[in-house]
Amino acid sequence: MKRLSSDLGGAWHPGQGQAAVLVNPATQAPLCEVAAASGLGEALHWARTTGGPNVRGLTWRRRGEILGTLAKLLHSAREELITIAVANGGNTRGDAKFDIDGAIGVLAGYASVGATLPDAAGHLVDGESVPLHKGSKLRAQHVLTPRHGAAIHINAFNFPAWGMVGKFAVAFCAGVPVLSKPATSTAMLAARIAEIMLASGVLPEGAFSLLLGPAGDLLEHVGRQDVVAFTGSADTGARIRGHQRVVATNARVNIEADSLNAVVIGPDVQPGSELFDLVIRDCAVELTQKAGQKCTATRRIVVPSAVLDDLRDALLDRLQSIAAKTGDPADENNRMGPLSSEAQQRDARSGIAMLASRTRRVFGDPDRKAFAGVDDGVGYFIEPILLEATLEAALEATAPFHQHEVFGPVATLLPYDGSVEAAAAIVSAGQGSLVGTVYADDRDFTTRATLALAPSLGRLVLASEKIAAASMAPGCVFPVANHGGPGRAGDGSELGGKTGLGLYLQRTTLQGGAAELARLLGAE
Ligand code: NAP
Repeated sequence: MKRLSSDLGGAWHPGQGQAAVLVNPATQAPLCEVAAASGLGEALHWARTTGGPNVRGLTWRRRGEILGTLAKLLHSAREELITIAVANGGNTRGDAKFDIDGAIGVLAGYASVGATLPDAAGHLVDGESVPLHKGSKLRAQHVLTPRHGAAIHINAFNFPAWGMVGKFAVAFCAGVPVLSKPATSTAMLAARIAEIMLASGVLPEGAFSLLLGPAGDLLEHVGRQDVVAFTGSADTGARIRGHQRVVATNARVNIEADSLNAVVIGPDVQPGSELFDLVIRDCAVELTQKAGQKCTATRRIVVPSAVLDDLRDALLDRLQSIAAKTGDPADENNRMGPLSSEAQQRDARSGIAMLASRTRRVFGDPDRKAFAGVDDGVGYFIEPILLEATLEAALEATAPFHQHEVFGPVATLLPYDGSVEAAAAIVSAGQGSLVGTVYADDRDFTTRATLALAPSLGRLVLASEKIAAASMAPGCVFPVANHGGPGRAGDGSELGGKTGLGLYLQRTTLQGGAAELARLLGAE
């Protein structure tokens, strides 16, 4: 069986010991294997000492140009990459494009950021210099410089392309070399993208290293100038943040964890309106795209009791047609594929059972065995599941739908009385989310809801009848927009255009005479 290799210290490593077998989650056919790599301390040292100077030595603008070249390269390999994502990720073609085009989009986005930066290596000036106090000849000027460590990227299984490439684009643009560890179960796509990037010849030596298989003792080698950027479950995130070496070094840590994203339907949204149709379309997309394995997927649908029946009926229509076309994603007629592994299927089923204590199931059978294009019982499928709570249960902060993310095609209808206060109480019961959405035309409701919800959210989508035709489902993340949410979502912050570079840069105050500062910073 083909073995995928890590690329560490400038050489390919097939790994050693017991190998993990990567499978097609629709057919359970084995595809390739991955084994643990060793020498991770040396690999990080090499990235810092060889990659660091090489990447920092490029001008800011040149780094952007390289990202643009990589975007084109991945685009030209798009069909091959989609085929891999369908096979190893259980992705439909649409799901695969979401991940791969997302990756290409972040490369292109940060190529554009790079184009706005100086055509010189070194620092970025941050804001204007200010006198230290009134009448002082001394001034303070903030500057940003690339940290002299490595960016250690640990990614989740659900976006093997976007997760790895997106983090890389930002770190590289900021002038920091990357060691990337994709999740094991879907590593085939990440490994192929890494091969393409490394074979391209456009990256300076040491700019990008790939660690496949388990993280092993990677975190034991974290250094004080390193940045650890993690995406995955809250449990693993907490373990990484609390790792004794990470704590001892004060290495910078960014956590993107799980999230109970909610949409709030305003009391003015009426069945039959374009906005109501948008709600239905968005909820169906968010429930079923990538079989619900998206950190930004809508888990809680907060709906006025007055339109609950209409909304449920309209959503059930959509879900029925998707459930009938859930099956092997290699058949393009199928609209939803399997979960990505047996463990994910098991976790999703146990999560649905957990939510059952405070909900009733209005659509879907978590134990359904027959799916399109595969033998009964084969593949890690779960059909779309819609749950519903009562008005009273929806407000219980400790209810399981506010506490537990089921990482699959599962959402819960939560009726409310149409007040901003109740909507805010429900949204904030999720303890911090990546994204929330308000669907409303009532400006007063939107204004008050924005202020009430924003502290619980990393991103708030405002959808109204006026922009319904142009609206994108809330789970789409764009490189110009901040990604990350407070509280249980990890309190991380990634992307967001130029702001996103800050994760990898040291902000230093230069304090001195005006002339000295001007000379240092290259001004007249
Ligand atoms: P996970 O089990 O936490 O794994 C995430 C990554 O951490 C994998 O690469 C995993 O490696 C690695 N890992 C596991 N234990 C580790 C340890 N002790 N030290 C260092 N690395 C370790 O999460 P997952 O199941 O892949 O992803 C699903 C979760 O990610 C969901 O909860 C989802 O909400 C969240 N997610 C969040 C975002 C976001 O942006 N906020 C985006 C996507 C997903 P192995 O695969 O080799 O075990």
